[in-house]
Order: sequence, then structure tokens, then C-alpha cells
Amino acid sequence: MGMQDKAIALHDVDLSLGRGAARVHILKGISLGVDRGEAVGLIGPSGSGKSTLLMTMAGLERPDSGKVIVDGTDLSGLDEDALARFRGRRIGIVFQSFHLVPTMTALENVALPLELAGEGEAFERAEAELQSVGLGHRLHHYPAQLSGGEQQRVAIARAIVPNPAILVADEPTGNLDETTGQSIVDLLFALKRDRGATLVLVTHDLALARLCDRMVRLRSGQVETGAASAVA
Ligand code: ADP
Ligand code: MG
Repeated sequence: MGMQDKAIALHDVDLSLGRGAARVHILKGISLGVDRGEAVGLIGPSGSGKSTLLMTMAGLERPDSGKVIVDGTDLSGLDEDALARFRGRRIGIVFQSFHLVPTMTALENVALPLELAGEGEAFERAEAELQSVGLGHRLHHYPAQLSGGEQQRVAIARAIVPNPAILVADEPTGNLDETTGQSIVDLLFALKRDRGATLVLVTHDLALARLCDRMVRLRSGQVETGAASAVA
């Protein structure tokens, strides 16, 4: 398969962030393909560049050099508006700390991406999505009134409500207890199974990484190759 057939293809991506003396060379020559419908666990030590790589795949960071091709589209060819529209339709992003709007209810948070995209029936679809993640009884609660696991479900509902083919999540179980984390894992893999979604999950949780079709291990901004990154 060529790069155009992949859900995500990175070719020799380099990225630095920060200014002046604080500038850090974070991603160093990353090449990586993710097949459609594949689940990839992105692992590696803290500071190795996992979050930055995820944001680059999602088009929230632009590489200094190299190519990022998502769903056959070279992201470098899109201006900021086109990139935002592309992201809104194709890529669901679950941030590490949820990033919910505190002044909006669960329902309003989940409806927001549909409203921003000018899509119809935003509230009906948001309600259905909250029901699908088991939160039909929390529609009118504000984030501060929800547990960590419930906030994570709202964040996932918001990410998947536009029906993106690709879902990326940064340590989706990182802030949750084991039981709550397991229910989030079940939810993510149900998306892969039922909707054929491509998953890229940053995780420290080896059990979660092992559920993925493949692990990719980062070390100091590079993909570690060889037996160490094979799924045991
Ligand atoms: P991980 O998710 O694997 O812990 P990150 O991608 O968050 O790693 O960060 C990789 C490295 O880049 C870290 O050393 C971090 O301090 C640095 N870094 C991240 N964001 C910035 C930024 N905006 N400016 C400067 N350095 C950054
Ligand atoms: Mg991180």
C-alpha cells in the first residue's frame, strides 16, 4: 500500500517548539504509517515526544520539515482555515486533560463541534452520542459536576460526534482509576470494532498498549525499531 492508502502517514517529520534558548528539537525524522482501522499504541518515556507526535498527526502542530498525510491529504497543502475544517470532519482528538468548556453543559460541549461546523441537529446528535457513551443521565451537568471518568466520556463523545474516521487520544486512561479506565478502553475499542475507526492512543498503560494491533515506541523524538517495540 502506498502512503495515500494509509489513515495516517508521516514521512521524515522534524519538529521543534519554543523560542531562542528554550527551543527544543522534539521530533527527529519520524516516519510512520497507520493503516485504516488499525489501533496503534504510542508508548515511550515521559518527554520522548508522544504528545507532540499525536498533535502533529492531528494537524494541531505543523512540522518544520517532512510530510504529514492524513486520509490521503497532505496537511502542508492546507491553510489554517482549511486545516481546521479538515480536522473537524476527519479527526477526533481526546486531550490528556479533557479540555471541556467549563461554562457549558455536557450536552453543549458535545454539540459544539457540530455547531462550529454548521451541521444540523447538533443537539439531537450530541444527546445520542452522550447516550452511546453511557451519559444519557448527565446531559445538563457542567464539567465540574462530573467525575473524572464522566468528563473523559464527554471528551470522547465530543471527539466522535462528527463521526471521524480517526481518533487520537492522549493518555485516555491516565487520570482515571482502574475500573473507570477499563470502561473508557472498552468504549475506544468499540469505536474501532463498530465504526471501523483508526485509533492512535498515547499511553503509559502497557495493558492498554497490548490491546492495540501494534505498539510504536518513542525515545528522544525517534521511533525505536526492532524487537523492543513488537507487541508481546
Ligand atoms: P511526552 O508526551 O512523551 O511526555 P511531549 O511531546 O509532551 O512528550 O514533549 C517532548 C519534549 O518537548 C519535552 O522535553 C517537553 O518539555 C518539550 N516541549 C513540549 N512542548 C514544548 C513547547 N511548546 N516548547 C518547548 N518545549 C516543549
Ligand atoms: Mg505527553
